Amino acid sequence: MDRIIGIDLGTTFSAVAYMSDEGAQLIPNALGDALTPSVVGIDADGRILVGRSAKELQVTQPDRSIGVFKRYMGTDWKIELGQHSFTPEKLSSLVLKSLKQDAEAHFGEPVQSAVITVPAYFNEHQRKATIRAGEIAGLKVQRILNEPTAAAIAYGWHSADEEKIIVVLDLGGGTFDVSVVELFEGTLEVRASSGETFLGGEDFTSTLAARVLEQHGMVFEQTETRHPQLISRLRQECEQAKRRLSKQEETIIRVPNEKGELSENSRASTVTREQFQKWTNHILNRIEMPIRRALGDAKVKLGDIDELILVGGATRMPIVIERATELFGRSPKSRLNPDEVVALGAAVQAGLFARDKSVEDLVVTDVSPFTLGIATSRELAGELQTNFFMPIINRNTPIPTSRVDRVSTLHANQTSIDVKIYQGEGRKIEDNLFLGEFKASGIPRGAAGQEVDIRFTYDLNGVLEVEATIVATKKRITHVITRHAKGLSASEVTQAVAEMAALKTHPRDEAVNRFLIRRAERLYQELPLTERRILDNMIVGLEEALELRDPAAIESNRTALESFLNHFDTEDHNEETYGDD
Ligand code: AMP
Repeated sequence: MDRIIGIDLGTTFSAVAYMSDEGAQLIPNALGDALTPSVVGIDADGRILVGRSAKELQVTQPDRSIGVFKRYMGTDWKIELGQHSFTPEKLSSLVLKSLKQDAEAHFGEPVQSAVITVPAYFNEHQRKATIRAGEIAGLKVQRILNEPTAAAIAYGWHSADEEKIIVVLDLGGGTFDVSVVELFEGTLEVRASSGETFLGGEDFTSTLAARVLEQHGMVFEQTETRHPQLISRLRQECEQAKRRLSKQEETIIRVPNEKGELSENSRASTVTREQFQKWTNHILNRIEMPIRRALGDAKVKLGDIDELILVGGATRMPIVIERATELFGRSPKSRLNPDEVVALGAAVQAGLFARDKSVEDLVVTDVSPFTLGIATSRELAGELQTNFFMPIINRNTPIPTSRVDRVSTLHANQTSIDVKIYQGEGRKIEDNLFLGEFKASGIPRGAAGQEVDIRFTYDLNGVLEVEATIVATKKRITHVITRHAKGLSASEVTQAVAEMAALKTHPRDEAVNRFLIRRAERLYQELPLTERRILDNMIVGLEEALELRDPAAIESNRTALESFLNHFDTEDHNEETYGDD
């Protein structure tokens, strides 16, 4: 059996892990970090950058680099970077490819298969887009695993024989999920999941940035259009400030000028944790409804819960921990790093596929977090209304599942019915997400009331197949939602693979140097003139050495530049971004 890796494809960071003899282990990237920023950029030479170098590029050239694209998975959203147009699938595929390469470098052999995690509340289109992204990256996606389920696996796989109920709250960069999980007799059973796809740490950062701008008489949206560099840099400042506020009571946030530059004379605001809490309270309130829904669906009372687990970087915020403690009347557990736990759980799931002996006794079951059904008609006061939603698979049904329901024709001699498929909890279809449609034709002519069976089959990846059978003739029409999902078709995937392969990417061993140059270019913007000149010479030195492929010169230029940066760079990026546990 192939080696299978576990990947957490996060909104802000991604991570890759595998199952070793000692249990699940993270694989470091080329820079030695366990977390790779989910950011993709394209430099002036048209080369693709992924991770920290792309994040650095984002600050100096926001139009050449992009993050937080996971939010647009499964939609028609596109972005131009350099000469190329990218869909969220293609951008995600570049992150996945980079993680795949890190794993290959780690093992010294090719890796072809992966378990990839998604928010539990990701819909059909988003899941399918994630599978496509994996395919474009050259990975066989063995399983799409829900992030909170992965976290519960990481916490529970050692002790799945104990009987207990765990609640997982997962607040990442862009999404919030809650899952109620039961452990018993070697089984890890998700009893219910709920969530929101547009609620995460990025919203806290955006609100902080908007409020700080407001204090200086500016409006976020207008400023974003007019001065993208200012916003890009301010967001970075606010991101760091938000993290500082997780540890300290107040912090200073500097506002960059229109070119995105900061100096000692920059305008600044002092923000207290209390103020930040007030500004973002409306965002935090939104976690309560999905929690109530998940507990209700799982038929679990607060007193039944044995463990509360917080996952996702944004749960480091004291306001999130306080609110969770308040809501559940208990302190959360945080034995594992909230940024890493999802990738570790994915690795355990990968181990289950590879029949790794350390996990062979574990059984994991999950649920469909949404209700799935079709549009149906009802007669109201003699009038036919066609916009009602008829659930076929109710939310939080254990998967895989297959359910059938019968519908019938409304008119005499009606030879076909339109099967319109929706997902959601609304009574009317307009409140739900349209997934696709097809025609079930070939119904024999006759009186109204000819019957058609509609079968919904929902697999372990959360991918839906719908089948209509005309009862009288046994004729079957099958429809897999993916064919109509927004995003890429199978042939488009092949094309995308070719397109992505044609993009120039930096060789892996160059990633470190490219990152260093990006970091230097960011610092360049802030330094006084004399230091700028020195720095410029050093960058040129390293670039020349890289151009000439001279290993000794590369090494010496790199070391010199590194020590210069460490001396001048005010914020130790490594510390700020990764070491705040
Ligand atoms: P994830 O998608 O799980 O990696 O979560 C990333 C989110 O967590 C981002 O929005 C980060 O800003 C946020 N985050 C990470 N560390 C902290 C921290 N120390 N304090 C506040 N937010 C954090």
